[in-house]
Amino acid sequence: MNAPHETGILQASAGFAGLEAPHVVAVPTDPLPQPHWVAWNAPLAQALGLPSVPGDEWLLRLSGHAAETPWCSAYAGHQFGVWAGPLGDGRAHTLGLLTLAGQPQEIQLKGAGRTPFSRMGDGRAVLRSSIREYLASEAMAGLGIPTTRALAVTGSALPVQRETVETAAIVTRVAESFIRFGHFEHFAHHGHHDALRRLTDHVIARFYPECATAPVPAQALLAAVVQRTARLMARWQAVGFCHGVMNTDNMSILGLTLDYGPFGFMDAFDFHHVCNHSDSHGRYAYDQQPSIGWWNCAALGSALMPLIGDEAGVREALDGYAPAFQAALTEAFRAKLGLAVPMEHDYRLASGLLSLLHESHADYTGFFRALCSLRRDDPATDGPLRDRLLDRQAFDRWAGDYRARLAAENSRDGERAAAMRQANPKYVLRNYLAELAIRDAREGRFATLETLSRVLAAPFDEHPGQEAWAEEPPAWAGTLSVSCSS
Ligand code: AMP
Ligand code: MG
Repeated sequence: MNAPHETGILQASAGFAGLEAPHVVAVPTDPLPQPHWVAWNAPLAQALGLPSVPGDEWLLRLSGHAAETPWCSAYAGHQFGVWAGPLGDGRAHTLGLLTLAGQPQEIQLKGAGRTPFSRMGDGRAVLRSSIREYLASEAMAGLGIPTTRALAVTGSALPVQRETVETAAIVTRVAESFIRFGHFEHFAHHGHHDALRRLTDHVIARFYPECATAPVPAQALLAAVVQRTARLMARWQAVGFCHGVMNTDNMSILGLTLDYGPFGFMDAFDFHHVCNHSDSHGRYAYDQQPSIGWWNCAALGSALMPLIGDEAGVREALDGYAPAFQAALTEAFRAKLGLAVPMEHDYRLASGLLSLLHESHADYTGFFRALCSLRRDDPATDGPLRDRLLDRQAFDRWAGDYRARLAAENSRDGERAAAMRQANPKYVLRNYLAELAIRDAREGRFATLETLSRVLAAPFDEHPGQEAWAEEPPAWAGTLSVSCSS
């Protein structure tokens, strides 16, 4: 690694996982003409050692007028269950590294022009999707869910053709690594076993050092990634987050939420909710995400086969998925229900409630936040909860079980409510909220985006005066649809 650059970004001369062309290539950016700021994440900037109020040099640099030579990497993957062949950083340029809490972080521009991996794409990202990625990254971080971060969005009048003509933007992303399952699949598919080994060794040395001394390090890595992925899926389910495009090229080797496209936080609860309009078969529906997480880990396992050596080793690692997922899901729902002492059948209690929410299409976030205020010994105060559901008798039966369960651990209302308000966010990035920020930003007004990102960064707090951001979607939001187009 070279000496620090004068404005803070380290040159990434070490490149990507010690790999070279054609897997990793230096690619100049195609800068946005006459860029302007859309968003700057001052708290993250400060944590990275950058100014809280950035100067023009940062506007230019993060709009692709880069001083350093960025690099792009090849990857592959399965898209919608089908082998998609070569993909790669078609619109992502990694500028270099900065340090966050002692850990080097990759700084990546998304939308800074074509690369050797762009295929038919234009290398651009539009303002709409860049704002969505920025808000979602920071909302997930606020929820404490592993995710890539977003440092900034810059915009430009440059037209970009999607379903309609939109304008270009660049989101600056930050993560310890953007390595995907698809990187491993790329090397395995082409029989580049030497590169596969170097990538694996790099990931183990850098991120999973405890696997280095295992009898079969690649199997230990797979087992560790399986654990992280299973836990990530449980966190998504618990907060009602649907990713929308869980292709293996969008799966992080670090278990981070990665590549925000047609994602959605559920409003009305529906087990079969499909957030991505392009996903006509519902492959990535809410209730499919956990099994797709496993499927993707299995694809990673196939890619690692040459290093693991036998199928039994792969299977053994994959067998860790279901128990890890169920344990993490139970833990997450215990917290959501305010159950401090683990007892048998706790998940059954949670799933009973989910069925009620599903039948009523009740607002997921709103219901759980309201549940925080339940009075253990006073069913007469249940009105605000019952009114959210169609079958009130069914709710009463469930609430009876819940109250018995609370009594079994001697749960006290005040303590439980406080704990539950740390597990059930008041604010999530509902689609219509992102849309409000986008509409204003298109008119050159960025205050909505700024306020919304501040609220979402602390989603468990009450934020007096900001309650409007917790409201259920208005009627006009019914026509919103998100697709792969970004
Ligand atoms: P995604 O669906 O965004 O995860 O992207 C899948 C693949 O398509 C990745 O290799 C991306 O780099 C590439 N890609 C998506 N959009 C574009 C674009 N506008 N220009 C170039 N490549 C793109
Ligand atoms: Mg992607």
